[in-house]
Amino acid sequence: MPSLPTDFPQDLPADRLPALLRAMPKAELHMHIEGSLEPELIFALAQRNGVKLAYPNVEALRAAYAFTNLQSFLDIYYAGASVLLTEQDFYDMGMAYLEKAVADNVVHTEIFFDPQTHTARGVHIKHVIMGLHRACLVAEKRWGITSQLILNFLRHLSEDDAWLTLEQALPYSDYFSGVGLDSSEVGNPPEKFASVFAHCKNLGLRRVAHAGEEGPPAYIWGALDLLHAERIDHGVQAVHDAALVQRLKDERIPLTVCPLSNQKLQVFPDLADHNMPQLLAQGLVATVNSDDPAYFGGYVNDNFVQLFAATGMGVREAFQLAANSFEASFVPQERKDAWLSQLQQCFIQAARGA
Ligand SMILES: [Zn+2]
Repeated sequence: MPSLPTDFPQDLPADRLPALLRAMPKAELHMHIEGSLEPELIFALAQRNGVKLAYPNVEALRAAYAFTNLQSFLDIYYAGASVLLTEQDFYDMGMAYLEKAVADNVVHTEIFFDPQTHTARGVHIKHVIMGLHRACLVAEKRWGITSQLILNFLRHLSEDDAWLTLEQALPYSDYFSGVGLDSSEVGNPPEKFASVFAHCKNLGLRRVAHAGEEGPPAYIWGALDLLHAERIDHGVQAVHDAALVQRLKDERIPLTVCPLSNQKLQVFPDLADHNMPQLLAQGLVATVNSDDPAYFGGYVNDNFVQLFAATGMGVREAFQLAANSFEASFVPQERKDAWLSQLQQCFIQAARGA
């Protein structure tokens, strides 16, 4: 497996690290497409579809993004998603994100989508999936970025609702690779969705789950044992349970961590206190992702640059995080190896480029 040469400098001059963080190839594995809706696009779609918003203009909507916890964020998130009605709307939203991902040197992305946010408003799941799928195809052709779609069940709703959503989605199962679990964590433990996830496993779908963002380590155990999750989204609370950390390390279960989201939702109010350095030092397969970039103050490169500036992490952590993102992705090993070689070349060039 390609790695950094042993004589690779421990640190580049401080001003060159941000450029390397931006330039390095990376995969993004935790990004909710509805959370990439920028106020400008929300207003454009509202106008196209004749949807009336509770905010008079883009500035007022942006100002309303001053939420303080997961629930107050989710309230405005669902309000923003109300403008999405047609397949073209989902395509436009997908393309807007993918263009930004390409600009951040994301070579592969596994995009979360929340069908229940739309089907509850009378939107057919076909429009959701096929609009996003078309965006993925066009983006690959246009820019070379590869993508997969991961259907997320909303955990504040019932398991019956998740079953119904799965049934609606299965005719389009060629177009998504897995399922996940998101929305309000506390009070909605993984066991609530054990049977639908077991069924998804039998169907051959990949499984991920949000766990240990605000919820306790017990929710991470539950995601692993009851949902058969192959990746944990967030998972930063794992550090409070030594046995859990050991298991995540032994089984190389990735954590898709979202630093600016953690800061904005007060999981780590000061980014300097973020436990990413600790997660990496413990040998966990942690990654950096943007979660809901339009709402949390930045896309994946903003997450990298601000996290590194706040915590003082250096070149080796940068390489490790990008390498982890490839290891954690749901693609064949040959593609991971090719990306790792590309990553290694990028770092060698950066070291030479003094
Ligand atoms: Zn998330």
